[in-house]
Amino acid sequence: MRLSLPATTSVGRPIRFDFDGQSIPALEGETIGAALSAAGIVTIRHTGSGAPRGLHCGMGACFDCVVTVDGRIGQRACMIPVRDGMQVSGAMPSELTVQDPAPASEERSCDVLVVGGGIAGLSAAIAAATAGASVMLLDERSLPGGQYAKPLAPSHQTAAPDRQFARGDRLRAAAATAGVTIETGALVWGAFAPDEIAAIVRGAAVLYRPRRLVLATGAHEAPVPVPGWTLPGVMTTGGVQALARAQLVLPGSRVLIAGNGPLNLQLACELLARGVTPVAVLEAAPRPTLRQLSAVVRMARAAPDLTRDGFAMLRTLRRAGVPVLWHTELQRLEGDGQVQVAVAAGRQFEVDVVALNRGFQSEVGLARALGVRHRIGARLVPESITDEDGRTAIPTVFSVGDGAAFGGARMAEINGQAAGAAAAADLGFGAGKRAGDRTEQDRAKRFQAALWRMFAAPPPPPLDGATIVCRCESVTAEQLRTRMADGLASLPALKRATRAGMGPCQGRFCAATIARLLGGGLQPDDFAAPQAPLRPVPAAPLMHPAPEFVAPLLEDAPPPVRIQRVAPMPEDRDAADIVVIGGGAAGLSTAYFLAKGGADVLLLDRDEVAMAASTANAGSLHVQLLSYDFNDDTPADGGPAAHTLPLAPRSIALWKQIGAEVGDDLGIRTEGGLMLAEDEAGLAWLRRKSEMERRWGIENHVLGRNELRALAPALSDHMLGADFVPAEGYGDPLRGMMALLTLVQRHGVRLRRGVEVQAIERSGATWRITTSKGQVSAGRIVNATGPWAARIGRMVGLALPVTGTVQQVIVTEPAPPLTRHLVAVANRHLSLKQQASGGFLVGGGWFGGFDPTTGRSRPLRENIQGNLWIAAQALPALKSLSMLRSWTGINPAIDRAPLLGEAPGLPGFFNTVTANGYTLGPVVGALTAAAMLSGETIDPHYRLERFG
Ligand SMILES: Cc1cc2nc3c(=O)[nH]c(=O)nc-3n(C[C@H](O)[C@H](O)[C@H](O)COP(=O)(O)OP(=O)(O)OC[C@H]3O[C@@H](n4cnc5c(N)ncnc54)[C@H](O)[C@@H]3O)c2cc1C
Repeated sequence: MRLSLPATTSVGRPIRFDFDGQSIPALEGETIGAALSAAGIVTIRHTGSGAPRGLHCGMGACFDCVVTVDGRIGQRACMIPVRDGMQVSGAMPSELTVQDPAPASEERSCDVLVVGGGIAGLSAAIAAATAGASVMLLDERSLPGGQYAKPLAPSHQTAAPDRQFARGDRLRAAAATAGVTIETGALVWGAFAPDEIAAIVRGAAVLYRPRRLVLATGAHEAPVPVPGWTLPGVMTTGGVQALARAQLVLPGSRVLIAGNGPLNLQLACELLARGVTPVAVLEAAPRPTLRQLSAVVRMARAAPDLTRDGFAMLRTLRRAGVPVLWHTELQRLEGDGQVQVAVAAGRQFEVDVVALNRGFQSEVGLARALGVRHRIGARLVPESITDEDGRTAIPTVFSVGDGAAFGGARMAEINGQAAGAAAAADLGFGAGKRAGDRTEQDRAKRFQAALWRMFAAPPPPPLDGATIVCRCESVTAEQLRTRMADGLASLPALKRATRAGMGPCQGRFCAATIARLLGGGLQPDDFAAPQAPLRPVPAAPLMHPAPEFVAPLLEDAPPPVRIQRVAPMPEDRDAADIVVIGGGAAGLSTAYFLAKGGADVLLLDRDEVAMAASTANAGSLHVQLLSYDFNDDTPADGGPAAHTLPLAPRSIALWKQIGAEVGDDLGIRTEGGLMLAEDEAGLAWLRRKSEMERRWGIENHVLGRNELRALAPALSDHMLGADFVPAEGYGDPLRGMMALLTLVQRHGVRLRRGVEVQAIERSGATWRITTSKGQVSAGRIVNATGPWAARIGRMVGLALPVTGTVQQVIVTEPAPPLTRHLVAVANRHLSLKQQASGGFLVGGGWFGGFDPTTGRSRPLRENIQGNLWIAAQALPALKSLSMLRSWTGINPAIDRAPLLGEAPGLPGFFNTVTANGYTLGPVVGALTAAAMLSGETIDPHYRLERFG
């Protein structure tokens, strides 16, 4: 329905667009989501399992409202302006539309770059520009103003802007006067260094190189998971506010508002002003009593105007007969296809719109990516640590407003001004800080503190098991609790085990809930490290060639700083016949085959198990030689990589057996791998390579152009042919590793997590292992620590030729089925495959960086670009997709053959280390177990002795 506001008229031209075959009237200047809401349409799409979804956050953060617009998938209905004749659908098209070429990329420099155009960002930009600095401000929305000061949509005009609209107008005008260059439609997708900020600006890749950076990225609403909160019609309070306030529409008329805090009361008043009487406001905090009098006095002293506003809101609601039910929790939401009933305090409310707000979460992704220090705030989520100017411990980076820590509009403005002035002063502009800043800042802080004392709510009730926690991947509280009962005790581990947080919202609407389930006590580093892209971004503008064959080796792979807050298993025994060190694919497989063969096995990992390369990998089940395995220097017998060729088919068969044992196919698809040739030289190389592979018993076929086209029509026409290896394929490493974890537990392997091996010594026939959690003794040891194997080797005086390389993987949004093969390109770095979900995994050994200040490995901008570029050379349809996430892992690097068997001169000390370890994990585990249990000989080409 459309809403009316005094002195406000609609000025947008009436237009029509098509939504799933229905012609919908709209006003030019409004969003698709607003037009659908005006037409009373709340169900926008269905998930893979058929659940209906609609608008939720209304600010582009949750990705629940993604639609296909004119053939372009993954577009957010809440953000995209509607156009006459537009074709919009909630369904995935059967084919992807070829996109226009992306505009050329460019690089821009400025004194101060402000990311985020809300009150904090605009205030910072104005202060810095007024002082004389050159300032650029980027905002994803079509107009700056952020959440609080967003303007009325261009579809409407008002002759009587309220205070909030007027404040936004003033700030925008002041920014223009001060000479701030404002770029809207500009999404920062990666902060790779304080002076390397990567954005997509209206379709073009732009790299910003500022001298000072001000992050003012705002907050999004905290999740309010109750049963039924994914039903269409259930939105965040900010989402309903964006529709009602800025677009003057509402998807229904019976609105219930629930949660905690003053924004809910404000929305109720705004609805009243627009002709809609809310059904009720449910407030989790108890009704303020005389006991809160001191808080009221403090609020009134700190901000009399805001305090007056608060009481005026309560009065308005009382006069209009809107019930405000204090100390009332929303229990559940019900409905057939959309929300119809809300249940609270034993009452049922008939509703068609529900607005939920229970506080906010700061958008700290860019700050965390840069290594800004954080603490855990009151709502169990990270907040940036800054000084009073908003300066972080990185001297050139400021973080202000709700994006640093939630503090409301007034605080944002004061913070922003202080940061802008300080950033400019750093560079010699202006007179520095304004007098009075501190007093105002203190007042705003005092007001916030008193306000939240008034609204202090009891903790939310325990989550019902069936409640969906992760909206993107539909993961329930019960699924998370089951994994926690298995011993997983950190956000990253639960993410890998359940996929919670892996969807397009990147954990924004579930991480806080999972932290709550884990019971608090988390540190900022317990949250998965934010990696570029901070939000899904179109891949096409990022596709640029980059040098491929320069992978720096980490001579001594550093430990991840993110040592998990893991609960070690009870120390039931401090000895075992066999101790396996390392719980990756190699260690878990070895433990599994050993325990299955009857051995007494204890597995130690300093982290959660299955957290390193074995779940970070791209899941390729490699059989054929890779580009770096076969070149002019390769010896006549093919060298170490060729000697390893027979292991892959055996290992893939073992993966299938492992899957059968747990009743899951582990996402394995072996319909063959295609290594493509771009030119005649590549084709000639493929022929030589395939000959070598055949000598080692690997079936393959060199295909010409037409055969390739017939087999894989979506691949580029430019490819001259391919080496087709039928045994190749891919699997889902997350499912594979969870299967191994299940099996080791089933076969009685004792797991000790969070136990770091620090020293090893021999005592007679026994190995004594010193760990971070005490002593362990073992008859025999298996070193399965992947890239860290050389460290363990040194503990027993062994020099192992194992190093590590940081490697990256990229995943795209889901697309219609395009390929079923594992795809590579001759003489290039690429592995590409389409997962069952429809998303493409793009990898192939592009290296990532290691940041010694954060202790984290992370993707590099140029290499994301280069990897995407070569992927699109193979599969041009990737140009139509968005990149969803990227990540890195540290891959063990040897000489392309595994390192197995008992170490010479060290009876009872075995190594099990391999590259291509997702493919080869099961076979190296089986070979190690066979050698240990029945003395089977290890092929000399896999033994340490080969290094002489
Ligand atoms: C980005 C990326 C993509 C890849 N893609 C593929 C692919 O598509 N296909 C493929 O076959 N392979 C792929 N690989 C390679 C493959 O993932 C690795 O070869 C394999 O996972 C190595 O397994 P691992 O068990 O040896 O090591 P890891 O998985 O690294 O496990 C080592 C374990 O040892 C523990 N540890 C280390 N030191 C200590 C200590 N002192 N005390 C206790 N515990 C310790 C660590 O915490 C860790 O859990 C990829 C690798 C990366 C990084």
